[in-house]
Amino acid sequence: MAGAYVYDFSEGSREQAALLGGKGANLAEMTRLGLPVPPGFTIGTDACRVFLRTGAPPAELEGEIADHLARLEASIGRSLGRPDDPLLVSVRSGARFSMPGMMDTILDVGLNDASVLGLAKARGRERFAWDSYRRLVQMYGTTVLGVNPARFEDVLTRRRLRLGAADDLGLDVRELTGIVDEFRAIVREDTGEEFPQDPREQLAGAVLAVFRSWNGERARVYRRREHIPDDLGTAVTVQAMVFGNSGPDSGTGVAFTRDPGTGRAGVYGDYLPDAQGEDVVSGVRDALPLQALEGLDPAAYARLTEYLRQLESHYRDLCDVEFTIERGRLWILQTRVGKRTAEAAFRIGCALVDEGTITWSEALSRVDGGQLDQLTFPRFDAHGDAAPLAHGIPASPGAAVGAVVFEVAEATRRAAAGERVVLVRHETSPDDLPGMIAAEAVVTGRGGKTSHAAVVARGMGKVCVCGAADLDIDIEGGRCTGADGTVVEAGDVVSVDGTAGTVYVGALPLVPSAVTRYLETGARSAGVVEAVARFLDRADQVRRLQVMANADTAEDAARARRFGARGIGLCRTEHMFLGARRPLVEDLILARTDADRRHALDALLPLQREDFTDILAAMDGLPVTIRLLDPPLHEFLPDHTDSAVRLARMRAMGREPAPHDVHVHEAIERLHEANPMLGLRGVRLALTVPGLVATQVRAIGEAVVARLRAGGDPRAEIMIPLVATVEELRVVREEVERVLDEVGRAAGLPVRCPVGTMIELPRAALTAGSIAPTADFFSFGTNDLTQTTWGLSRDDAEASFLAAYLERGILAVSPFESIDRDGVGRLVRLAVDEGRRARPDLRIGVCGEHAGDPASIHFFHEVGVDYLSCSPFRLPSARLEAARAAAGTDAEADSR
Ligand code: ADP
Ligand code: MG
Ligand code: MG
Repeated sequence: MAGAYVYDFSEGSREQAALLGGKGANLAEMTRLGLPVPPGFTIGTDACRVFLRTGAPPAELEGEIADHLARLEASIGRSLGRPDDPLLVSVRSGARFSMPGMMDTILDVGLNDASVLGLAKARGRERFAWDSYRRLVQMYGTTVLGVNPARFEDVLTRRRLRLGAADDLGLDVRELTGIVDEFRAIVREDTGEEFPQDPREQLAGAVLAVFRSWNGERARVYRRREHIPDDLGTAVTVQAMVFGNSGPDSGTGVAFTRDPGTGRAGVYGDYLPDAQGEDVVSGVRDALPLQALEGLDPAAYARLTEYLRQLESHYRDLCDVEFTIERGRLWILQTRVGKRTAEAAFRIGCALVDEGTITWSEALSRVDGGQLDQLTFPRFDAHGDAAPLAHGIPASPGAAVGAVVFEVAEATRRAAAGERVVLVRHETSPDDLPGMIAAEAVVTGRGGKTSHAAVVARGMGKVCVCGAADLDIDIEGGRCTGADGTVVEAGDVVSVDGTAGTVYVGALPLVPSAVTRYLETGARSAGVVEAVARFLDRADQVRRLQVMANADTAEDAARARRFGARGIGLCRTEHMFLGARRPLVEDLILARTDADRRHALDALLPLQREDFTDILAAMDGLPVTIRLLDPPLHEFLPDHTDSAVRLARMRAMGREPAPHDVHVHEAIERLHEANPMLGLRGVRLALTVPGLVATQVRAIGEAVVARLRAGGDPRAEIMIPLVATVEELRVVREEVERVLDEVGRAAGLPVRCPVGTMIELPRAALTAGSIAPTADFFSFGTNDLTQTTWGLSRDDAEASFLAAYLERGILAVSPFESIDRDGVGRLVRLAVDEGRRARPDLRIGVCGEHAGDPASIHFFHEVGVDYLSCSPFRLPSARLEAARAAAGTDAEADSR
């Protein structure tokens, strides 16, 4: 094709979403499939990018649009805005990644004072023509000319109320012509210009408005949330209008090839007779369930279900479809692979694998760890006797408790202050997006399963009940009233059950979800549990990364094992020195003589031995990687200020404090560090506090002996933290081995534990090649490695500047949440490579927060790490993500 920017539907295909936008690409695809798509053409995203860069569209664009329009007119036999029987078009936005409702679309372009009469005459339906004109002036006025939408709404409401009409169907031709006049007067007043009568001027204005809507506030908010880059731009599709508002034999709707809530097969959707486009989504009128169409127009319904089947098998996934019926004739206006809940994602994946439609690795590419996490969120306990405040449509499942808010600004304000809120609105529009992001749940009084609230909430995994018609919502008054007269004021707490579609007053008790019960007990049951179980079974076969847990107690170890851990990758010992045992550590720190110190350590030994014995029992047969004491000792002493104040107060009252308190205070002062993160901790403690290593290792060795004697299979491993140079590791390792030998000789049993090191300082990573021969394994402590590589302390950064960095886009994501591939990741890669080169059998793991983060897991897979160790509750999603990494799924692209 000659042109560089514009493509006819017949020229494109679904692979071209980057150029044509998802909408344009799929319209082209459906045109090629022979579906009844009104003809049209798409302006590629590159034209929008020129506009975004230079502030003007490319010079060639006008001519190309004119050529394509001429061809469209010729093929249809009508021309844009011609006075007798005009061609009208829609001008539609559509980016590479679906941004439902976030940008603008203008319908009925081409109507003016003359062509509205021609349209009425040609179609023999006067009301319809004026309804369309009314819509054009309203949509064009707001999106192209920037008129405040409330001004138009006010006119409509005022006229409706005067006539006592329930909705806009009650407005007759006379009213509508009056409304158009009023609307045009508003445009004149607000902009100082007439509503343009030239159809080509309308078209050009609409195209520019769509370009501009890429940078509209709501589009930007949505992109930030969904991690969609800001520089992609939108395509613009120009398409011949078809008219669902032509009368009772017409209508418009949205259909899904399966239930997007549960994944169940069947036809789902909403249908609105005698309506155009946005009416379904905006919830201005309550839609009928799609099944009702079967009664209204059986032939159109049969054709629609046939097309749905065809689309699902073509796209090999759940599709959602916009359609319009004009006087009995069915048109398909949009399709895309549909957004779905987490439950539906897992169930559809299994169903399509079973049908032989997709492979397991495709199925793995379509679910992610975040969705699995959602399924483990708690549910409400049986609601008992509580009568719901309101019933609505279960639009997005889950349980949420929060304070009711009616205003978006209020929602964001309260959420920022750490409160959980439930946003209650008549219906939502894209302007409500920040409030929806802030809220735990969204409740609307109007709108169906495909209303804006429902679609957006499902996409975000938020709980949503929509169309709660029995809830009387008074936004201005800040209150809503249930069917039984119960009044809920702003700030009152409600519980929202998005699975059942009910809202309750107060906070209902929560219980574990069915998926969590399965993870805990292994009990499978039909439906989503079975689907999750099958995915995890599959994931365990596919993944190369081993998955272990961070667990410090026997209880955690047992849970981790149930959640699929193949051992403990990080067992911290510090908790063994807290609580009732803190005085023993105090004694150790205060010891003045070797005998005192020995005494203190001897008291700790049996306690630690017991702890280790229990943990090894819980993880029998699997590795338990025990990290020697890591935190600075002053963490085991009272707070410096508290202690100083106590002593000062005693002295002020003329009393001499107890000598013990004075000693403790001296120790606090002695151990005080300006920067404890970089001070006396980790291996440095092991090398400077006499007897500390020996006691810990003895406890471990004796626990191993106890487990061996009990017939168990203990696999303790010893891990040295914060090593910077191989010398530190060498000295400590010698001591570890000496103590284990002693324990073994005394017991008459061989006690051998692998000894490895954490790699959590840049120097350790950079000298991995010289450390590796002395280490049986490496475990990347990515939290400390991130702090020390960036030269910042996590707590300080999070409390001060990190939020500002994220806000200003200096960081796209916190390096503590997701591994910084370029910096920290480079050190990891280097240490893996050089460590392995020095010692090919070196086992390499990761035990920081990052081991549970999906994007980081893909990175660790890539660089050849052997195992992950994360907190027990993140294990299931880590198993899944490790498998997705192995199946070659790109976590970044997929998260959109
Ligand atoms: P969004 O991306 O917000 O869904 P769309 O471009 O899909 O915006 O358009 C909004 C509404 O207008 C949809 O319901 C769509 O089906 C309808 N619509 C778009 N183009 C046409 C057309 N040519 N004829 C009839 N209805 C249309
Ligand atoms: Mg659409
Ligand atoms: Mg550390």
